[in-house]
Amino acid sequence: MLEDVNKIIQIGSGIQLIRVAATQYTLGNRALELFLSGCKANPHCTNCHNPELWSYAIGEVYDEKYKTQLINKILDSPNLIQRIWIVGGEPLDQDHQELYTLCQDMKNTGTELWLFTRYDLDEVPEDFKFICDYIKCGRYLPDQCGIHEEYEVNLASDNQHIYKKGVDYAV
Ligand code: SF4
Repeated sequence: MLEDVNKIIQIGSGIQLIRVAATQYTLGNRALELFLSGCKANPHCTNCHNPELWSYAIGEVYDEKYKTQLINKILDSPNLIQRIWIVGGEPLDQDHQELYTLCQDMKNTGTELWLFTRYDLDEVPEDFKFICDYIKCGRYLPDQCGIHEEYEVNLASDNQHIYKKGVDYAV
C-alpha cells in the first residue's frame, strides 16, 4: 500500500515543512503526543481546543536533527511511550508527503501509531489508514457534546470515533 504517495495529496498541499509545536506525555495512555502546528478548517471548529495551533509558523521544524532527538526520546522510554499520538492543529492539513515521512519515522521505532483528525474515515487517504494503527475521526461539535470512551480514549462529541486498523476498517 505504499504506492504513489503523490496521488494522495488531496487535502493538504503547498506546505513543505512540518513544525512540531509541542510534545506531551499522556501518562494514563502511555502516549507521547506530537502537536503539529497548522489547521485549515474553514470554519474552524467552535470552541477549538488549540486555536494557537491554527498557524503553521509555530514550533520547531521537523528536520533530521529534531527527528533524531525525538526518536532517541521514544527509544529511551519504552515503558512510558507505548503509542505515539499525532495531533494538531490538523495533521491531514499538512503536506501529505511530509506527514507520511513523519509517520514512517515514528512507525519505525516499533511504537503504536495513532492519528487524530477532524476528517471522517472515508476522507483519510489509504496510505495513512495503512501506516496508522488507530485513527480518531470527526471534528468537535459542541452541539453533539457527549463524552464517551473508545479504545480507552475519551472523545468529546458523539460524532467522533476511533477506528482500529484490521478491526474497524480493512486495508
Ligand atoms: S481541526 Fe482541530 S485545530 Fe482545527 S479548528 Fe478543529 S479543533 Fe481546532
